[in-house]
Amino acid sequence: MEVIKQVSTIRQRVQAFRCGGKSIGFVPTMGALHEGHLQLLQASAQENDVTICSIFVNPTQFNNPDDYKLYPRTLDQDTELLKTVGCDVLFAPSPEEVYPQQQPLLQFSFGALEDVMEGERRPGHFNGVATIVSKLFHLVQPHRAYFGQKDLQQVAIVRQLVHTLSFDLELVCYPTVREEDGLAMSSRNTRLNEEQRQIAPSLYKGLKLAEAQLRKQPVAVIKATVAAYLESVEGVELEYFEIADPSTLQPVEDVTNVQEVALCIAAVVGPVRLIDNILVNLNEVQVV
Ligand code: AMP
Repeated sequence: MEVIKQVSTIRQRVQAFRCGGKSIGFVPTMGALHEGHLQLLQASAQENDVTICSIFVNPTQFNNPDDYKLYPRTLDQDTELLKTVGCDVLFAPSPEEVYPQQQPLLQFSFGALEDVMEGERRPGHFNGVATIVSKLFHLVQPHRAYFGQKDLQQVAIVRQLVHTLSFDLELVCYPTVREEDGLAMSSRNTRLNEEQRQIAPSLYKGLKLAEAQLRKQPVAVIKATVAAYLESVEGVELEYFEIADPSTLQPVEDVTNVQEVALCIAAVVGPVRLIDNILVNLNEVQVV
């Protein structure tokens, strides 16, 4: 596996792959790799001639300076892991390499898609995401790019970005990989102490609680039930629980004639803010 830190070098390498007729799979990450990332890398390695992984903790998408400063950085360990999953190139640039001058950021607008949930609570977050994803897509020129359902709103934003800017690539989304107790794997989980780690699965439990109530209780009652449950778990502070349309991510007030919903949650546990979601096919929900 080749490790590339320079923009000029990744451009050359990508050019060579493209001229050689190789298909390129791309997995953008912020590192501190876990099974959720590895699933995407393995899929890419299977479906493409060449797999490129980027590790870049992107400063422009953090709206909380402490979160950026304390985000886990484990590049040596990540490099070793990547060698085991068929990754061909690791692109790990410095912030100065990616953002050479202090320039005003481009302003993206995603309309209603960014007015809810993460977009509403993390001002500027998706603008930073769209900026880095656009830059990386230009540098890596992938045929396929792999993202996780764990960041459902990010997938929707990137899908719109690809469509609006006519990026010539296929977006591939894989389901959320979880720990045995249901906690969605996340690089930020490493910042939880033992006690916090014990209560972190309550986000997933809240989602499952809501799932069990769908079509049996009105949306408002389900929301109140989830809020009451999380309030009962000491050490967890709920930011939002939302029942949303999976493609527009707008709130669903009545699920009567709805086929599928996304149940989305964000909560603070100790020093970190965690998010999670599940998709529920309402045709499979049994009403008793
Ligand atoms: P990150 O390094 O957190 O920016 O994540 C890089 C990619 O991995 C994103 O597309 C995430 O959605 C995806 N990802 C992160 N955690 C998981 C997980 N538990 N399951 C599946 N995909 C994930």
